[in-house]
Amino acid sequence: MKINILVVDDRPEGLLAVEAVLASPRYNLVLAKSGTEALKYLLLDEFAVILMDVQMPTMNGFETAEIIKTREKSRNIPIIFMSAISQDEQYVYQGYGVGAVDYIMKPFDPYILKSKVGIFVELYQKNLQLMEQAQKIHESEIKSYAQALDRLELESLRKYQHLADSIPQIVFRFLPDGSHEYFNNVWFDFTGFTIERTQGQGWREAIHPEDFNSFIDLLREESQLETECRILSKEGEYRWHLVRMKPEKYNDVRKVDAWLGTATDIEERKRNESYQHLMAKAGEVLVASLDSKTIFQNIANLVVDKFADGCRIEIINENCGFSELAIAKKSEHSSVTFPSIEVLAIDESQTSVIQRDAAGNTILVPMISNGRTLGALSFHFNRCCKEYELERIRVAEELGLKCAMGLENSLLYDLSVRAIEIRNDFLSIASHELNTPITSLKLHLQLVQRYLSEKGLNDQGRFQHSVEASIRQVDRLIGLIQILLDVSKIQSGKFNYTFSQTSLHEIIHDVIERNRDVISSSGCKLIVSNIPDVSVKWDKLRIEQVIINLLMNAVKYAPGRIELNLSEDVGMIKIEVKDYGKGIQSDKIDTIFDRFSRATKETISGLGLGLFIVKQIVEGHGGEVTVLSSDKGSSFKVALPTRFQVLTMNSVKEIDRVVS
Ligand code: ADP
Repeated sequence: MKINILVVDDRPEGLLAVEAVLASPRYNLVLAKSGTEALKYLLLDEFAVILMDVQMPTMNGFETAEIIKTREKSRNIPIIFMSAISQDEQYVYQGYGVGAVDYIMKPFDPYILKSKVGIFVELYQKNLQLMEQAQKIHESEIKSYAQALDRLELESLRKYQHLADSIPQIVFRFLPDGSHEYFNNVWFDFTGFTIERTQGQGWREAIHPEDFNSFIDLLREESQLETECRILSKEGEYRWHLVRMKPEKYNDVRKVDAWLGTATDIEERKRNESYQHLMAKAGEVLVASLDSKTIFQNIANLVVDKFADGCRIEIINENCGFSELAIAKKSEHSSVTFPSIEVLAIDESQTSVIQRDAAGNTILVPMISNGRTLGALSFHFNRCCKEYELERIRVAEELGLKCAMGLENSLLYDLSVRAIEIRNDFLSIASHELNTPITSLKLHLQLVQRYLSEKGLNDQGRFQHSVEASIRQVDRLIGLIQILLDVSKIQSGKFNYTFSQTSLHEIIHDVIERNRDVISSSGCKLIVSNIPDVSVKWDKLRIEQVIINLLMNAVKYAPGRIELNLSEDVGMIKIEVKDYGKGIQSDKIDTIFDRFSRATKETISGLGLGLFIVKQIVEGHGGEVTVLSSDKGSSFKVALPTRFQVLTMNSVKEIDRVVS
């Protein structure tokens, strides 16, 4: 590279002289004919030294030098002034004042000029070398700093990854759009995914499709940063994970730069929760119905929903074989096959054995209650899993126990229903059978009574008295048989009514006439209020039975003044039987209308069925019966609609038509 030297002289011969002396392949002489031109070249290039003529028109050498020294770029370039020998010393000093580094007198000795310029050129070259070296040192320093920084960064990244790999959870980092940035080894171990498969949005394939949205919602909603989702393992099984995410914001608090998250395996907790839920639900199902078919079909469905891929429930039948009670499969078309249940012998010694097939896909548990095998439950699993096998057996066993209890209960229920049916049949047959001879007995007694009085064989009233007493007892017997007959009809749903138009007057009149003697002979006084003049559509005999029952109770339990109050109120008839006796014990009052309910300590005989029948009849007429009682007496109130419309499908349609 050539060294630039600037020569400034207004006279061409001056320039020529310098050029002649300094001509060298090492130098590039730039010749300027004025100070202005020199300043222009200085802006364009680098120079080792300036040779400046002092005396020049317009801008002399000193003035040019002053400007050169003010410029940053040219400030340090050495200037050698060239001056005529005749000039006085003042110029020399002025030259130094403006930054000259040397002076050379004209006409100059070529040797001196050459050597002076040579020194400055050498200085310039040294300077250049130094600067280059400094530059090199600077560059290498920067490089090594950068390397050190890279090392540090790499080291901390490695530490961070080591840390992330050493914890048992999956650790990941997403970019704001959910694309993969980092997953720790736990992820790759668990899913069996490669880094290539995970990259971009590839990781999404491992998330259960049903849970995917809740996962993605996390990326959208910064408030909810926790969710549960299933992640697919390399064994092809989804396991529940708790995912927690944290947004990373470096510069702007409103902008998420990345998402840092962890996923913790909570499969075991989830499974336990689900088993507990299954047991609780099974408990509910077992008491929700009494029909064993319904119960066990619901149990099988529940098992398939929460526990196994298939479930079959069988019970032991009368022939000591197995009958299928319920079956359920995860999918209708799934090929769930249950091994033959015969492996579970009915033999006592084998009953508690839990069977599983060789592949471990089916578990069979017996249903044992009170040491008796009632049936068996088979659970089918599409995939056998060593990890959960014990757990599955435990759950299956618990379900077996629960179901056995449920089955026992429903068998007992079936038995008691059957027993009640038999009792009702017996009641009905017995009361019918008793009715016939008793009625005929009463007829014969009445015949005897008539014969005795006609023949005058009264024997001072002794026979007459006996026959009357016998007729009374037979009437009581007929009453009791009637009660039994009514109860058996109510229980078997055959208690029917014959509604007919009649007047309230007639009903009350008949009741009083038929019971006048009994009431007065027991020393009671019956006070009847005004009877509203209304026509009613009731089962006359049944409503008479209600009023007689209430009146006879008052005669029995509260003899004395008895009131029969009647009133009418917008389509309703109110009948009150009021007495002034000791009342009914307050703790018994709520159950007084129940079957066999009695509230008396006294030895007054009764079956505890009268008020039960009263309630049935009143409700059968669309009415209501209530009681108020204190130690000053009781008041039974019956409210009955004047006509009770039994709703049939046709009448419902008729009502709909009128309403619309
Ligand atoms: P029973 O008279 O056969 O016992 P009911 O069903 O007619 O059966 O009556 C149930 C019970 O209600 C009676 O045992 C009696 O204790 C009580 N009871 C009914 N009516 C009265 C009344 N007017 N005063 C006091 N107790 C009564």
